[in-house]
Amino acid sequence: MKFTCPNCRQPLLPENINVQTDLALCKACGQVSQLSKLVDADFDPAVLDHPPPGAWYQESMSECIFGATTRSPMAFFLVPFMCVWSGGSLGGIYGTQLVHGKFNLMISLFGIPFLIGTLMFGSIALMSVCGKLEVRIREGLGTVFIGVGRLGWTRRFNLAEVDFIEDSYTPGSRGSGSTSILLRGQSVLRFGSQLTEPRRYFILNVLKRLKAGSGASPRNLG
Ligand SMILES: [Zn+2]
Repeated sequence: MKFTCPNCRQPLLPENINVQTDLALCKACGQVSQLSKLVDADFDPAVLDHPPPGAWYQESMSECIFGATTRSPMAFFLVPFMCVWSGGSLGGIYGTQLVHGKFNLMISLFGIPFLIGTLMFGSIALMSVCGKLEVRIREGLGTVFIGVGRLGWTRRFNLAEVDFIEDSYTPGSRGSGSTSILLRGQSVLRFGSQLTEPRRYFILNVLKRLKAGSGASPRNLG
């Protein structure tokens, strides 16, 4: 996370930032600022006027709606893979039992991990074909929806209680990691790892701009 001095726009050095006392000192001009007021000023205003393909921003009198599709070229791999893998494993395990009209408990239990795998990979595959992430903010209260159509998962946040909005990298196994948007404050909300880099960057900057513009109302946006 980078901070800039509100007075002279110079970057603030980490050693001159004190999170505990919520103060930051600018070595260039001597300005002492409140850290919590600075954080949200760090965004790229240009990005908002040019949403990347697959991302959108709408605002009305009472509400801001912005989001991005989770569609990805991975679908070309995932969908055929799912058909072969799920079709093969589930067809073999449960299909044969149905065809012969005989229930085999051991084989059915053996198939449970394949069922769980099908649900997990299936939802990832579906997201890569037609999923979306959408944020709605009304009077400072926000929801983050992730899913397909109206089916999905919604989480809530209060923009006034968010202190930090940042890009957060989570290292995974074997060098694979994922980057997501992190809203940190009284509670922590992490989302957006399914988005491509430009779409995630766009969402991140809209959030920062709304937070900087007092967040309470979209009418306060410059
Ligand atoms: Zn300064």
